[in-house]
Amino acid sequence: MPKGAYLFEGVILDRAGPSRDYLVLSSEGQVLERGRRGTLGRPRGWLDRIRGIAIPPPFNGHTHLGDAGWPREPPSGTVEEIVAPPHGLKHRWLSRVSLAVKREGIEGALDEMRELGIAGTIDFREEGRPGIRLLRNVSEREGFRCVILGRPRGRAQSPQAVRQILAEADGIGLSALRDVPRDLAELAAAECRRSGKILALHASESEREPIDSILALRPRLLVHLCAATPSDLDAVAQEGVEVAVCPRSNALFGRQPPLAEMERRHVRLLLGTDNGMLVRPDLYREMAFAYYASRLRGQPVRPETLVRAAFLEPWEFLGEPDRAQITADPPARPLVFRLPETDPWYQICCRASTRYIHVLSRRPSSGRRRSRGRRIR
Ligand SMILES: [Zn+2]
Repeated sequence: MPKGAYLFEGVILDRAGPSRDYLVLSSEGQVLERGRRGTLGRPRGWLDRIRGIAIPPPFNGHTHLGDAGWPREPPSGTVEEIVAPPHGLKHRWLSRVSLAVKREGIEGALDEMRELGIAGTIDFREEGRPGIRLLRNVSEREGFRCVILGRPRGRAQSPQAVRQILAEADGIGLSALRDVPRDLAELAAAECRRSGKILALHASESEREPIDSILALRPRLLVHLCAATPSDLDAVAQEGVEVAVCPRSNALFGRQPPLAEMERRHVRLLLGTDNGMLVRPDLYREMAFAYYASRLRGQPVRPETLVRAAFLEPWEFLGEPDRAQITADPPARPLVFRLPETDPWYQICCRASTRYIHVLSRRPSSGRRRSRGRRIR
């Protein structure tokens, strides 16, 4: 056995489903060996023996980190009044506050996600190229992965404006289709296809929008779909388009994503936390809220669906399916939760928090900010 290794015995949740296996983990938390329980030779010299649930790290499917520095309770109002461009409260705030306030807000949100063991986020970044640069600079310095989907400022719709965004961003993240001229949406779609980058947009958040004209743009990712009909969901599932749902953000506007319908129709789901000014980017709270809210609605969603949306499906979306698997080759770095092995999807969905993450080793922050709390892995 390697020196200084941990032995994990419990349930492994990865894209192959649950299995009762053992893992030998390096002191840095890397998988050195995986095998069936009971087949390991005589154990010796473990740093620790851990029981619980091992799972690949989660990835936030939808954020707007630019407004994470908003310091107050979110006021009540409609989507238009609070977050829609160009005159929603959020956009007025973004145009008013200093770069330092935005930067600090982003740093705080990235720090929080890292402490939660979240591997990265797919972020819709407003404010054109300066907005992309701000998030890129902070995330690179902090060593936190951000898939940045930018958008041209205002209603700028020249091919050049779109290309300038795509030169710096990982794709385009549009506000709702009704907020942008059709020409701009089609231009963005064509440029994303040409450059192999991601086209994403909010859709049917508070009112139903025509799904055919949205799908005609061939987006990779839609966000919300609260007001989508069952046949809209069928069309989305048929096209294999991913959908990021953000139940806590929706709840603030009196909405819920139809999770049980989405599950029944095999819509490919990611879980996101949406605007930083409304909701902190904590996927564990998001999963638990989604589960309870769906039961309150009388249309329960399975814990497995939510856990897959937060921990496994994002890696498929990113084209890195190996990361949704726990193997020694390539060596995975799973999160290990000290939770009961019974109903493991439920345990992760409703009970996971940093309280239960087994800290295998401490690693200093890669950024200039130091966390006050413990560091995971
Ligand atoms: Zn959003």
